[in-house]
Amino acid sequence: MKKIDIPVEGMTCASCVTRVEKIIGKFEGVRNVNVNLASERVSFEVENDNFDLESVAEAVQDYGYKLKLDSSADKIRYLSSDGSPLKEKDEYFEEIKKDFFLSLILTIPLFTISMLGDYSFFQSLWPFSVDYTNKILLILTTPIIFVAGKRFFKIFWSNLKHFSAEMNSLVAIGSGAAYGYSTVATLFPETVSLHGDLPHVYFETAGVIITLILMGKLLEHNAKRKTNSAIKKLMELKPKTARILVGEIETEIQISELKTGDIIVIRPGDKIPADGIINWGSSAIDEAMITGESIPVEKNIGSKVISGTININGAFNFKVTEAGDNTVLAQIIRLVEQAQSSKPPIQKMVDKIASVFVPVVVLFAIAIFVVWLLIGGDNSFSTALINFVAVLIIACPCALGLATPTAIIVGSGLGASNGILIRNGESLELAQKITTIIFDKTGTLTEGKPAVTEILPMNISEDELLQLCASLESQSGHPIAAAIVEAAKSKNISLSKPESFQNLSGFGLTGIVEEKAIISGNLNLMSEYSIKVDKAGKQFEDLSAGGKTVIYIAIDGELKGMIAIEDKLKETSVKAIEELNRMDIKTVMLTGDNKSTAESIARKVGISDFRAEVLPEGKANIVKEFQSKGEVVAMVGDGINDSPALAQADVGIAIGTGTDVAIETAQITLVQGNLLSVSKAINLSRYTIRTIKQNLFWAFIYNTVGIPLAAMGLLNPMIGALAMSLSSVSVVSNSLRLKRTKL
Ligand code: AMP
Repeated sequence: MKKIDIPVEGMTCASCVTRVEKIIGKFEGVRNVNVNLASERVSFEVENDNFDLESVAEAVQDYGYKLKLDSSADKIRYLSSDGSPLKEKDEYFEEIKKDFFLSLILTIPLFTISMLGDYSFFQSLWPFSVDYTNKILLILTTPIIFVAGKRFFKIFWSNLKHFSAEMNSLVAIGSGAAYGYSTVATLFPETVSLHGDLPHVYFETAGVIITLILMGKLLEHNAKRKTNSAIKKLMELKPKTARILVGEIETEIQISELKTGDIIVIRPGDKIPADGIINWGSSAIDEAMITGESIPVEKNIGSKVISGTININGAFNFKVTEAGDNTVLAQIIRLVEQAQSSKPPIQKMVDKIASVFVPVVVLFAIAIFVVWLLIGGDNSFSTALINFVAVLIIACPCALGLATPTAIIVGSGLGASNGILIRNGESLELAQKITTIIFDKTGTLTEGKPAVTEILPMNISEDELLQLCASLESQSGHPIAAAIVEAAKSKNISLSKPESFQNLSGFGLTGIVEEKAIISGNLNLMSEYSIKVDKAGKQFEDLSAGGKTVIYIAIDGELKGMIAIEDKLKETSVKAIEELNRMDIKTVMLTGDNKSTAESIARKVGISDFRAEVLPEGKANIVKEFQSKGEVVAMVGDGINDSPALAQADVGIAIGTGTDVAIETAQITLVQGNLLSVSKAINLSRYTIRTIKQNLFWAFIYNTVGIPLAAMGLLNPMIGALAMSLSSVSVVSNSLRLKRTKL
């Protein structure tokens, strides 16, 4: 499966979206077609490599839209970060601007003459006869229709060939009808006149409609460009060149030539061009743009650096671990772009409405026309015509198509700048419905860096106990094991390689070290091997009650000691839980620790519901259990051993480590391991969905109020055109407001 993502020109409304999706979706081997009106792009997956994109482009063109396959280099822009996606659209902007100004310059005299023409004061000054004036108006209006407004007619025509209609059709039929009737009335007045008077003409209506709709497009396009500033900002974080060390010599190379293993030289103020690990020097780095964390982070030899962040004061060299499309920055851009072009469920419903809306409106307008023709009296034809035009114009569902995608674009951008990456619109919509959040303890609520706090030997020296246990633990990747090995190292105890070793996930380890049978793990493991632990009793209880993880160590079938390990709570955990409790969201903690350790930690962090001694594979079941009670469940974990639970949850939230952002099973990734971002993510979802709902209200209210008024003959079509262009602008501006929201 290959993902294709290309710009589309000429889409104007929600119904164009479904249209283009349908055209492309009909091709064989094409899947998941997704059109985004706000970013004016289509993305889809194709099955084979030599897929014929040209024929898709032709089919789309046939309907009057244009797939932009040109600009050979990024002919197919995979969802990657190369090139600014905004550049392609500027041409379109320039075209609309030209058309708008032409239209405006002609409309000003057109409108003035037509309006003043009704006053006798003006008529006495005006040197031309009505007949002659109408011809002047015809001359002024013709270029507006055929030059400035040609886009509407082109698309209308292509659509007509396929018996379909969309917003452009409404504008084209509306202004075309006003223009056509007026032209006939001007050139052959006798054909439309009943009593020999010169008939009234509606050139200004046609001209003003085109001008105002173009103005709306222009304002809307301008605002739409602003919605995507987050992606643009992210792209600008990438420097163009990097200085690398070749031997002793510094050479400046293009960023595209960077390879893993290169050594990059960084000075104060430099942007970090790739991901890597510092191998010389130290500095403070501003990582706000990636993680949302505003305080600069101290870095030394061995620290990871992230592409797109900015070095503040020190100088250092680092070895590239990921360059180009694999960097954290590139992944973030890809994720945000993907989210921006995806549709939340709410939009799918809107698309459905929009796809039937236009044909229904056209039929309705025709019905109104007939009714007015029958009841309109003397001037029934022109009254019927103008009301027909008014209905068509006020019914344009232009704002409808922008309501959701602009909010999603701004929302996911706002998330990214706060270190919250949302996979798609669906997750963004779902996050506000979360009722229960399940936290994995280790590495999520706690630092995930446990350290040994007490060693309690029994009939053995402390060093020997530690030496045997650490030798066995050195084979395990568990954080507990790392803590024990670290403790041995700090005491300069040398470890030996176990002769055999077995890892019992969720229980501990067994193995042979220096011909001794060692068992290191929890109570369940001890019971499994019938090891008596009575003599540990009280000490074990006390340490556990203090929130420490205590493991037993048995040697040759006898308990020989305990080691207590503490994993500190993250500084932000308590506050984060407090915030969630305040939001009335239930919180639950899962841990493999025993009950008293778990209880102590849960209490410290402020969680009342916890599950202890959970085996790794049991986490997903607990998520299921809450789901079956009707809860909308979010699971927060580190994405490594929690993958099944993250995938099972309605919303999987992965706590990033700053270097791994594309955690596949998670719908939301918090780039910085800060738990305060969990409530922020929910707020983000709430605000975005609220904005979408407001937008939909504004988009529909113009239509719902306007259509009956127009049908009753109470709405001038020019006012209708103004209302329509304002509705799109108000919707886009409302989405832009979201940008300034504090999460
Ligand atoms: P986990 O499911 O990984 O959180 O582990 C659950 C419990 O099993 C821990 O609290 C320890 O008591 C025990 N355990 C897991 N791994 C080890 C290990 N490498 N050494 C000793 N005990 C372990």
